[in-house]
Amino acid sequence: MTSLKVITFDLDDTLWDNSGVMARTETGHYGWLLENLTVWLDERCWPPWGLGFEQGLEDYLQRRKRLALEVPERRGDFTWLRLRALEGQLEAQGLPRSAATLWAAAAMNEFHRLRVQVMPHPEAVELLADLGQRYRLAAITNGNIHLKRQPLAGYFEVAIAAGELLAPKPDPKAFLTVLEHFDIAPQNAMHVGDSWEEDVVPALQLGMHAVWISETRSNALPEGVHQISHVRELPGVLVTLNAPY
Ligand SMILES: [Mg+2]
Repeated sequence: MTSLKVITFDLDDTLWDNSGVMARTETGHYGWLLENLTVWLDERCWPPWGLGFEQGLEDYLQRRKRLALEVPERRGDFTWLRLRALEGQLEAQGLPRSAATLWAAAAMNEFHRLRVQVMPHPEAVELLADLGQRYRLAAITNGNIHLKRQPLAGYFEVAIAAGELLAPKPDPKAFLTVLEHFDIAPQNAMHVGDSWEEDVVPALQLGMHAVWISETRSNALPEGVHQISHVRELPGVLVTLNAPY
């Protein structure tokens, strides 16, 4: 019997399909900003906003890329990168710093509102509820989703945004933080995620069990890695390991 006690989950593309959400969030919060800012500038008889939607969005992206290079320790802290990039763009367009700070924060609030509109896989809710009876559960994400506002937040005892720890996966810091929180050895923990580099590799290196969600079948997997094509298949892995389910 495997003495598995803790299961950690990646979120994006593990517990929900993230394609579409990011695209909607990206254009949605920037569109919200331009729409509301235009009205605000107009009311004050200030010069109108000078960048078109596409041009502004591209400038915003380029600013984030530059910031990630200039401040490498923040490269995985996407909320910080977005906030600073927006402030920079707003100031470059002539807004005073105080207004730039407020509008950037308001746009990020809209970003987070849209970003949590993810649709968990229908099976994920029941799965987490069941697993929560037998295991202690944690979430470890590189995404900048609001961890307390995401729809599955209630199932996790611990949730970590690795980028905000300034240690995005594959850095082991987030995994070690969880193991320390539960005070267990890596071999008593399992990580479930869709990224080979960011989920499987660091979990294996620490000696955790790793479950890789991937549709591409692979024959030669290292020992300790279990491949499934959807999170709903996780109970089968637990049965294989003789772990309770
Ligand atoms: Mg993922």
